[in-house]
Amino acid sequence: MVPFHQAVLQGIAPDGGLFVPTQEVYFDSLDLADMSSMTYEALAFTIIKRFVDDIPDNRLMSFIKNAYYQGAFPPTVAPISRMSKTLSVLELWHGPTCAFKDMALQILPEFMVGSLAVADEKNEILILTATSGDTGKAALEGFKNKKGIKIMVFYPENGVSEMQKYQMITQEGDNVSVVAVRGNFDDAQTGVKEIFTDKEFNEMLLQKGYRLSSANSINWGRLLPQIIYYFYAYGSLVRQDVIKLGSKVNFVVPTGNFGNILACYYAMKAGLPVAKLICASNDNNILTDFFNTGTYDKNREFVTTISPAMDILVSSNLERLLYDISGEDDAFVSRCMTALKENGLYSVDKRTINSLNNFMWASYATEEETKDTIKNVYEKYNYLIDPHTAVGINVYDKYVISTGDMTKTICVSTASPFKFGKTVAESLFGPEAIEGMNEFEINRMLSERTNSPIPTPLMDLDKKKVVHNGVCDTSKMKDEVMKFLGI
Ligand SMILES: *Cc1c(COP(=O)(O)O)cnc(C)c1O
Repeated sequence: MVPFHQAVLQGIAPDGGLFVPTQEVYFDSLDLADMSSMTYEALAFTIIKRFVDDIPDNRLMSFIKNAYYQGAFPPTVAPISRMSKTLSVLELWHGPTCAFKDMALQILPEFMVGSLAVADEKNEILILTATSGDTGKAALEGFKNKKGIKIMVFYPENGVSEMQKYQMITQEGDNVSVVAVRGNFDDAQTGVKEIFTDKEFNEMLLQKGYRLSSANSINWGRLLPQIIYYFYAYGSLVRQDVIKLGSKVNFVVPTGNFGNILACYYAMKAGLPVAKLICASNDNNILTDFFNTGTYDKNREFVTTISPAMDILVSSNLERLLYDISGEDDAFVSRCMTALKENGLYSVDKRTINSLNNFMWASYATEEETKDTIKNVYEKYNYLIDPHTAVGINVYDKYVISTGDMTKTICVSTASPFKFGKTVAESLFGPEAIEGMNEFEINRMLSERTNSPIPTPLMDLDKKKVVHNGVCDTSKMKDEVMKFLGI
């Protein structure tokens, strides 16, 4: 068993596996009754405390307050909107970067600072991240100005949206660096992985007083905070009298790396009354196929879609679900992961897939369906959604048609519509309406025509000062690291 602070600092286990919660955490119906009336902060404390025993209470409380303070988030932190009799939408994008990754990346840096103190670590931490858009900015916002930590983000020069690029190149903070890489996301990620596995380079960094770490969603410290909002959403529906305490709900989760939906599974295991977990994918529908056939096969074309945060062929966190569902069968998981690495595919047996399907339902939305859903939801409910959330709602519609299930359902909304304003405006008004406009102009038009405010963090980004304009070849990423550290 590894204590929490070590799991946070190491990110990945020495054998290459992922850390999973070993403690049997279970909230019974009395706990649930208490939790349903709690503020987000109080609930966060209650949940985190049951999973973490090596960080003192007063520190934990201050971490939570630092992460979810008003100014960064609205008072309710994660508001919930009622769409129809059965469907509500949980908005997880009211944080500093307007995507759901803030929910975890605002508190992970706090955990890291706390873990450094517990471990009595003398080195500084250098967080290295390659990003396809949302993670980089959320990590920068979370780690900026954190003591004992520096953060460096590499993004593909032409692989992120204008909005995402401006969010990053205008990033403030005295410990941050952002560099564009000539290449696509895979090139940037491969470059970062090479740095992590270059022993000599790591030893050199250690001699200079720096230890490398990562902020991606395989870190248990990023998964844990995501359990909180599933309980919070449930409590919100109880308070709104949509459900009775104890009755089950469904969750729909637009899924990429399987982190967000896995957190919902952990919430369910910890006692949250969940009937079905609905796994929504885009045209990269590898998870849909897996849950329907039992075979995970990445030998297929990678598709670039209008929901880019879900353009993923290897959903890393699925490994944790397999581990759990197999009764913590190390050897089984290891066989699957080796087969995936060597042949690009693995299969699980009928029994495993049947037990998964007791609580899991998976489908996907095409590009056209996603755009239509943005338009339909706006016209029907006067409610703007981003393309990732639209994938979720489209898949929910398919679920209802296929099963007839009228259980109260919560769809997780993962980004502000203004973060993907181009796609949203095009879906609503047609391609002619946005011709020749940049993303900032499009947002202003979208805001006017729908009478909805642009979130403050995305406003006037194009007028902010650009402070990071470095570009490098993938072969020069290590040099960039050294330049940043001044070594
Ligand atoms: C990261 C992200 C997702 C996917 O979440 P996973 O935890 O990787 O499944 C979905 N939508 C948005 C907007 C994201 O940024």
